[in-house]
Amino acid sequence: MERDEVPRRALARDTIAAIATPHGRGGIGIVRLSGPEVVRLAQEILGFLPKPRLAMLGTFKDAHGQPVDQGVALYFPAPNSYTGEDVLELHGHGGPAVLQGVLAACLDRGARIAEPGEFTRRAFLQGKLDLAQAEAIADLIDAASREASRSALRSLSGDFSAAVLRVVEELTELRALTEAMLDFPEEEVEAIHRNDAMVRLAKIHAALADLMARSRQGRLLSAGLHIVIAGRPNVGKSSLLNRLSGEERAIVTPVPGTTRDVLREPFEIEGLPVVLVDTAGFRARSDDAIERIGMERARSEVARADVVLVVRDARAPEDAPGDLPGEGARLDVYNKVDLAPGFGAPAGGVAVSAMTGEGMEGLRRAIVRAAGWTHAGETVFLARERHLRAMALAETRINAARERGREWELFAEELRLAQDALGEITGAVTPDDLLGEIFGRFCIGK
Ligand code: GDP
Repeated sequence: MERDEVPRRALARDTIAAIATPHGRGGIGIVRLSGPEVVRLAQEILGFLPKPRLAMLGTFKDAHGQPVDQGVALYFPAPNSYTGEDVLELHGHGGPAVLQGVLAACLDRGARIAEPGEFTRRAFLQGKLDLAQAEAIADLIDAASREASRSALRSLSGDFSAAVLRVVEELTELRALTEAMLDFPEEEVEAIHRNDAMVRLAKIHAALADLMARSRQGRLLSAGLHIVIAGRPNVGKSSLLNRLSGEERAIVTPVPGTTRDVLREPFEIEGLPVVLVDTAGFRARSDDAIERIGMERARSEVARADVVLVVRDARAPEDAPGDLPGEGARLDVYNKVDLAPGFGAPAGGVAVSAMTGEGMEGLRRAIVRAAGWTHAGETVFLARERHLRAMALAETRINAARERGREWELFAEELRLAQDALGEITGAVTPDDLLGEIFGRFCIGK
């Protein structure tokens, strides 16, 4: 399926404008415009149309001809622009009042304020990007670690879409062969096709499984790893959190039960964005109402964690919190080994000292392993839940096709359904409400 086949929806008639830089004050602030009225708007705001793709200094004037700001204007004629339409960028001074003034100068002359993600949506509708690439732009902006941003960039440059398309193409080919065979129902032709089809189907399945494995890894990159530290009071949970995140944040005190609430600390381990949650200690009972609320909250955090660090004191290793809710991986951590000379952690556990830092490297490695992060330099795709669901559906269809044995019409139909499922990833097959959902989550100006 070529880019060109992306169905063109109604092309935009109106011209949109938005402040493209973040809210607040900065050296430069940019107002971006896109649409058929850009040339007229440039002439009215600047008094001239800048030469294509050439930075030109100008004064930005409001609808009454009053100067609002002075800055650089950039004009990108269609189709060689981000959206594929005529685009104008006005680079002014990055103050909220100035930028509002420049934006008003555009709106007063007939531009409409852009909806969230509307520039990127137009880029998609004009065929500049497929859907997975458009999503990658939002993921790149939101990336919480270097590794995540590298993966998003890979999707943006089309590597992920290309891998999906390769599977789609092989499905198409197998479908065409099957349908051609249906026109020659001789026994021998069918026998040859049967062998060939099953070999091809197995190959397609393997390629899809590989893509899914890489995408699941990427899912960890985009969603981040949710780690919860649980354990009895005073075993060193806050100290461990500080060690892992590398900064003094949680309050560490020698009085049991002082960490009253859950804390969230975003940082990264081996390139994985991590949210570490410290919990109130799990005590059998507490008479303190505030602490009880903390414990309730701790239980719900534990229930949705990817990895739970069950922390104990190495001097009393059998003293651990009882039944913990949820299905996340458990990792036994024996802290304060500096006070327990000669202590060896049982299999599957890790011995550390939050005080001296001993064993912390091993703990970091154990955490990412427990989370299922096997990334060892291979290409990981920053896939979204939506992509994973589409691939899982395609896999179900491929398995169903295999079950069809010699019912070739039904076999071909399953292949078509698998193709459609994968087509949703790149947007070759896309319901409109899905587009609204995807682009509505973008920031304004993107
Ligand atoms: P929490 O209640 O589980 O969060 O425990 P804290 O992190 O507040 O630590 C309780 C006490 O144990 C503090 O006095 C810490 O300094 C001390 N502590 C924590 N980790 C270690 C460790 O590895 N070795 C030693 N010797 N003391 C520790």
